Amino acid sequence: MIHRSFFRPHTILTALLFLGVASLAAAAQDRSSPAVSDSVTFFLLPTAEGQTREMYTISGGAFSTPFTLIYGAVLVRHGHDAFLFDTGLGEQVDNQFEQDMPWWARPFFEYEKQQSVLKQIEADSTLPRPTRIFLSHGHWDHAGGLVDFPDLPVWVPQQEYDFIHSEGPPAVFPSQFTLPDSQWHIYDFEAKNYAGFEHSLDLYGDGSVVLVLMGGHTPGSVGLFINRSHGRNYLFPGDLVWNHDQIDRQKGKFWLSRLLADYDSERVDEVIRKLHDLLIKQPALQIIPAHDARSWDRIIREH
Ligand SMILES: [Zn+2]
Repeated sequence: MIHRSFFRPHTILTALLFLGVASLAAAAQDRSSPAVSDSVTFFLLPTAEGQTREMYTISGGAFSTPFTLIYGAVLVRHGHDAFLFDTGLGEQVDNQFEQDMPWWARPFFEYEKQQSVLKQIEADSTLPRPTRIFLSHGHWDHAGGLVDFPDLPVWVPQQEYDFIHSEGPPAVFPSQFTLPDSQWHIYDFEAKNYAGFEHSLDLYGDGSVVLVLMGGHTPGSVGLFINRSHGRNYLFPGDLVWNHDQIDRQKGKFWLSRLLADYDSERVDEVIRKLHDLLIKQPALQIIPAHDARSWDRIIREH
């Protein structure tokens, strides 16, 4: 399977190292021109993958077309700071799955584990050490690694904090949220429109890392924009869509997935339309849905 071989840890680490080196080189070249200095770069860290059918990811999709799912995290470096956006499946995921996933839902969520984010960071001294964790949302396949980083604060908007503490399996695993209250950090967005989203947060004040409140998939679902020099712009929309084709075709998820996984499917449709319009205005924008292996491949190949 092409994705499987592509995402072998050594291959991806090499690709990630290349990303880092390319970034340093770009920063050096740009030194004479502050307007395009590259303060931000990122690393894609897959922690597991699974196999499904296109049909289960997009309304009108084909059963005959295989679809590879990635479960992972994004490690973002900005100057001397770094943070994680999601954690993928962590060291304890098998126990968490055993404890919290209902028997009837297990066949839908089979995964093949790779290295956890913790192990990848421990094994590679060139990767930056994160100082905090942002969640795109609180579903189990994004929050699985929180317990591997007991010292890092976890940043979520109030809506997502409330959702995590009121929802249960199969979407949210109580076994993953054993962190003390002091570890949570609730943050607010500003009422500033960014790329069509009414609420945004320019994390470092330089436009390079911008979080937007998307909602829809969960009440406090968050999208992450990363803007690098030379117009290299990226958006990580979490699980707003599972399959990038949903944006091009303006389609929701498969009806059952939509029913089970999306908190507010009308808002999901609205955001899909926003992303579709955004791509017309900014065709170079790279949108990387959290689980779409093809989108991950494309980023690693092209950058
Ligand atoms: Zn997910």
